[in-house]
Parts: sequence; structure tokens; C-alpha cells
Amino acid sequence: MAIDPQFHENREQVGEENGVSVWGPVDEPEELGIRGTHVAVDFDLCIADGACLEDCPVDVFEWVDTPGHPESEKKAEPTHEAQCIDCMLCVDVCPVDAIDVDAGRTA
Ligand code: SF4
Repeated sequence: MAIDPQFHENREQVGEENGVSVWGPVDEPEELGIRGTHVAVDFDLCIADGACLEDCPVDVFEWVDTPGHPESEKKAEPTHEAQCIDCMLCVDVCPVDAIDVDAGRTA
């Protein structure tokens, strides 16, 4: 399974955390939804591989702790998505296709 690139139409924005939108459903700690809008990470798919953090040329991502989540205890949050230059590296390197980037997407 990969992140739904139409999530902004198929999900509801249920809040904001660290300045990025949270798209539900959310039922913590097992279900965390999608974080971010321009740069979006499906926290329920993220396995904390870390390639996106290492490869992003403009340091969009930050680790956030997610204890109790079945896939991983930390996630790559697109905290600085406003800095994104749309190089698509993170989309290419994510081993579980948890990331989608679309500059035209708005919350
Ligand atoms: S598309 Fe490029 S600049 Fe944007 S978050 Fe991904 S790696 Fe960083």
C-alpha cells in the first residue's frame, strides 16, 4: 500500500501539529493519519527508515516520537514543508511509498 495522493479529497483535516496539517482518521497511538499537505507523510505507513531525512537537500523532515505505533516508534514529519523545492528525492527513496509531494495541494 502507498500513500493516497488524493488524500486531501478523501480525508478530513482533523488538526495541526508542529505547524503541519493532520489528516485523519486518527486514533492514537495506533492510527496517526497523514501529516503535511505540500509534502505529505502517511504516518501509518512510515517505518522510520530515515532515507528522506538523509537525502532531502533542504532538511524538510524532523523525527517525531510515536510510541505505541505498530509500524515504528518514530516518524519523519515534514515539519519544514514550506522549504521544499520539489526535487522528489524523498518520494523516490521511501521504501514503503509513504510520501507524496504536490506543490499545488492545499489544506
Ligand atoms: S521533494 Fe525534495 S525538497 Fe521536497 S521534501 Fe522531498 S526531498 Fe525534500
